[in-house]
Amino acid sequence: MSTTWHILGAGSLGTLWAARLARAGVPVRLILRDKVRLASYQAAPGLTLVEQGVAHTYPVIGETPDSPQPIRRLLVACKAYDAQSAIAQLQHRLAPDVELILLQNGLGSQDAVAAQLPQARCIFASSTEGAFRDGDWRVVFAGHGYTWLGDASHPTPALWLDDLQAAGIPHEWSTDILTRLWRKLALNCAINPLTVLYQCRNGELQAHQCEVATLCAELAQLLEYCGQPAAAADLQHEVERVIHATAANYSSMYQDVANARRTEISYLLGYACQAATRHQLNLPHLQQLQVRLVEQLLARGLPHD
Ligand code: NAP
Repeated sequence: MSTTWHILGAGSLGTLWAARLARAGVPVRLILRDKVRLASYQAAPGLTLVEQGVAHTYPVIGETPDSPQPIRRLLVACKAYDAQSAIAQLQHRLAPDVELILLQNGLGSQDAVAAQLPQARCIFASSTEGAFRDGDWRVVFAGHGYTWLGDASHPTPALWLDDLQAAGIPHEWSTDILTRLWRKLALNCAINPLTVLYQCRNGELQAHQCEVATLCAELAQLLEYCGQPAAAADLQHEVERVIHATAANYSSMYQDVANARRTEISYLLGYACQAATRHQLNLPHLQQLQVRLVEQLLARGLPHD
């Protein structure tokens, strides 16, 4: 019997992973916030995944954090700002050889979790897949993509990649996962905050080329200082390519703000600005961008951390 995947967080990505693993016959259990959420889930027929307009429901077992079963493999599918507290609730259930797969965007939450659980193997993930909830316990698979997985302290691939293969989750083991996460963070910092400030789709940033180029130059400098030269290579070019390729899209940060949801700013632009301060690096445009973004969030009554 293969190891059960415990999935912490039944949101967009958690459901996307849980449904595909369950469909392949891999044992999966879903950890919900509390009894109220569990009761709501149990009143539904299961998790529904909508792919190309077709909905399928999978009767994945749900449980609360205080369920007794030990956890050996945990997919953490919460937002970055919830990861540590959500894992803390499970600490007593984690087996000594537990492995965690951390799906959080940005940087900062992964190191915090690794410090919280020094005995655990923490595998960092960087995903270009896209999904959103269009109802309780129902997720739309919006963008096919790829997930890179890696362990910054042990290059040996995890043993459960076969489960992902069976589930049809496109993935690759990466020996430079930090480079990937830094690169994605830099792309995010160059695009997402501006889409919030200008209230626009990604493509409309083509009208702000100089500002984007200045931010890219500062971000590339930051990546070099942080020991990530590969993540800095040709950054502006890639940012321009992404703006063009995703011209019709609204960025995830834009969508969070538009829906009055908390953003992950502290793990994206906030993390970049903190890293600059740590290195005593003066990046005036990046720092000004953070000030403007925080002002915008405060003006909308949203958390700025
Ligand atoms: P999401 O839809 O908001 O889902 C997060 C889930 O975590 C929610 O269901 C929430 O529960 C649950 N949660 C929070 N605290 C919990 C706790 N203590 N116990 C149990 N469950 C808890 O978020 P998401 O879009 O899947 O994003 C997850 C991470 O993946 C983020 O860092 C995001 O940036 C990254 N990511 C997302 C996508 C995407 O397309 N969605 C793509 C790439 C990366 P409730 O339902 O009860 O609120």
